[in-house]
Amino acid sequence: MSKFSPKFNSIGIVGLGLLGGSLAIDVRKKHLTNCIVGFSRRISTLRKAKRNGLIDKYCRNFEEGIKEVDFLVITTPISVIREYFYLIRDNNPKVLVTDVASVKEKVVRDAEKILGRESNFISSHPIAGSEKRGLDASQEGLFENKTVVLTPSEFTRKDSLQKVREFWNCLGGKVVCCSPAEHDYMLALTSHLPHFVIFSLVNILNGKKEDRNFQDYIGSGFKDTTRIGKSDPDLWAEIFFLNKKNILCWLKKFEKSLSQLSEDLKKDDRNSMLVKLRKIQKIRKEIDE
Ligand code: NAP
Repeated sequence: MSKFSPKFNSIGIVGLGLLGGSLAIDVRKKHLTNCIVGFSRRISTLRKAKRNGLIDKYCRNFEEGIKEVDFLVITTPISVIREYFYLIRDNNPKVLVTDVASVKEKVVRDAEKILGRESNFISSHPIAGSEKRGLDASQEGLFENKTVVLTPSEFTRKDSLQKVREFWNCLGGKVVCCSPAEHDYMLALTSHLPHFVIFSLVNILNGKKEDRNFQDYIGSGFKDTTRIGKSDPDLWAEIFFLNKKNILCWLKKFEKSLSQLSEDLKKDDRNSMLVKLRKIQKIRKEIDE
């Protein structure tokens, strides 16, 4: 265990899918706790997680199980999180809790309303994942070198914040802090809008594939750029509606950018387009540096 490791006797993970399963693998590998307790919706998932050694035990009765963990990570779909806040409030209100939801304003608002300002809840969003889902998609090292956004409030206890920060650091995450509103505004551009645009782009193929054998003409460029179009529709519809305001705001800017390029094409203004494309290429390359 690293000297910065938080010592948890027992860590609970609710929702053993891509994020929850990956978390269990790394928590075990980094020896962050003596016991990983799994909670999930389906018994088959819990049994598989136990069989594969991801968790030490599972618990079907959350109200009982929550009493024995000293740190709980909620990795369920976003809509389910508030149900767990009620159960935590009623059964172990002081336990240290975090989540991994991709949208923060609603989760933090619900936490303040249900758990109260005195609670030990600090919201997290590891910017790590993939288009895959479920326990079978979980992978070792998912959080290595990935940004993890924490959104503490003015009521957050300093020692709790430090524990959650160290937890993610131990998993290789690079922790940054901002407000829930800032998180949702920025992620709308860097994650939610790209998913929205790619779903819309792939949608154009609807009905075309069979008509004209488009399938034969799809190369790696299309496949690479549209990989996220294979993402889980339930998860993404949830994110789009929860962050609607910010996505619509960035969508307006995207439409403007698209129409500027279209204008160059319509006007046969090759120079103007070249200037734009060179600038765009530079911006994109700088992201990798
Ligand atoms: P996922 O692979 O579908 O896993 C979610 C798991 O939650 C499922 O395996 C399901 O378990 C469980 N679950 C569903 N309803 C539940 C309930 N009522 N109680 C307990 N468990 C329940 O989804 P994911 O990709 O890991 O996403 C989970 C969270 O991570 C979401 O909040 C998402 O915003 C966030 N996130 C996702 C990504 C990404 O790239 N996917 C990245 C960052 C953050 P069963 O098998 O038992 O039904």
